[in-house]
Amino acid sequence: MKRIPVAGPWITQKEIDYVTDAVTNAWYENANLYHQRFEKAFAEYIGVRFAVALPSCTSAIHLSLAALGIGPGDEVIVPEATWIASAAPISYVGATPVFADIDPLTWCLSPESFEAWISPRTKAVIPVDLYGGVPDWDALRAITSKHRIFIIEDAAEAIGSEYRGRKAGSFGDTGVFSFHGSKTLTTGEGGMLVTDREDLYRRVLQLRDHGRAPGDTLFWNYEVAYKYKMSSMQAALGLAQLERIDELLAHKLQTFAWYQRELANLEGVSLNYQPPDTKNTYWMVTIVWDERYRLSKTELLELLRGANIDCRPFFFPLSSLPAYENAEAALLARQRNTVSYRISERSINLPSALSLDENAVHYVCDVLKNIFRSYTG
Ligand SMILES: *Cc1c(COP(=O)(O)O)cnc(C)c1O
Repeated sequence: MKRIPVAGPWITQKEIDYVTDAVTNAWYENANLYHQRFEKAFAEYIGVRFAVALPSCTSAIHLSLAALGIGPGDEVIVPEATWIASAAPISYVGATPVFADIDPLTWCLSPESFEAWISPRTKAVIPVDLYGGVPDWDALRAITSKHRIFIIEDAAEAIGSEYRGRKAGSFGDTGVFSFHGSKTLTTGEGGMLVTDREDLYRRVLQLRDHGRAPGDTLFWNYEVAYKYKMSSMQAALGLAQLERIDELLAHKLQTFAWYQRELANLEGVSLNYQPPDTKNTYWMVTIVWDERYRLSKTELLELLRGANIDCRPFFFPLSSLPAYENAEAALLARQRNTVSYRISERSINLPSALSLDENAVHYVCDVLKNIFRSYTG
């Protein structure tokens, strides 16, 4: 039996045709053609003025922090429950990461916890649209306006998600996306930074090209900066995927609906939450189980692996990782951020690859139901 993959893309002839065209023709005077088309289409899709194609989402967060002038002495708040890429660039610019708790339903940054972690040194916050869900943006933005804090929205997992009719990625000073092979829209490796602020857009263009003015051909560098660019082949792949975005998202929603139906009668096990007036795009279908099941996430992962099913643990709280063992704010975070610690213990991502069909989901759910039934009482 073939292993059931946890994540992976959906590539069609369209993607192959676009990449073939890019590698054949996107040179000389056409070298930037696919970047321009991809960036323009992406900005339009998200509903923002500017988009910059980059080699990764990590580089998009790094550039956002650098463009906002964040550096040593500044604190940046980030939710505990996320991939380390949301937080690592805070250290790249010499600032201090501060870990806040998540909301028990959305699994995104909790407004109350966010506000409680604000200090006079807090300059920015990086809310994460976790697994395709969105946080309470009205509450978060009321807090950032009151305290004059910049927002970098990490929408890496949430292309197409919405909050009150607006697309994820459009709620911050900048929004960032990942096109890693595991994400809903992929370019193999890649990312995008979007913004409505022209000053930030111009600053990002200079910072990502070794401190040159956009379009410079004279090798005249104004500052020491970075080299963060995407190739034409990646941009072509991204454009083809973006032209199929409705189809990609429909598959994610369908996959979630299959799981929801199959697991509806499994008491004490809940799936991703979609608050009223929001759209969750379910990048990763995720389950959380309650205390009636005496089962740890590592035990469950092991059992599923034994049944040829690839799953992932819910993110470990950042403050629990060896990488942040000696971080200034981690000690207090371990005591205060109880929701992240509680959920992370009893939660995993289920197979959510774009190659899955109904039979695969049915099989996964059968295995899951048998495991859970044998771990009660
Ligand atoms: C995947 C991911 C990133 C990093 O994306 P890269 O393109 O690999 O740099 C950042 N944040 C979140 C929440 C992610 O899931």
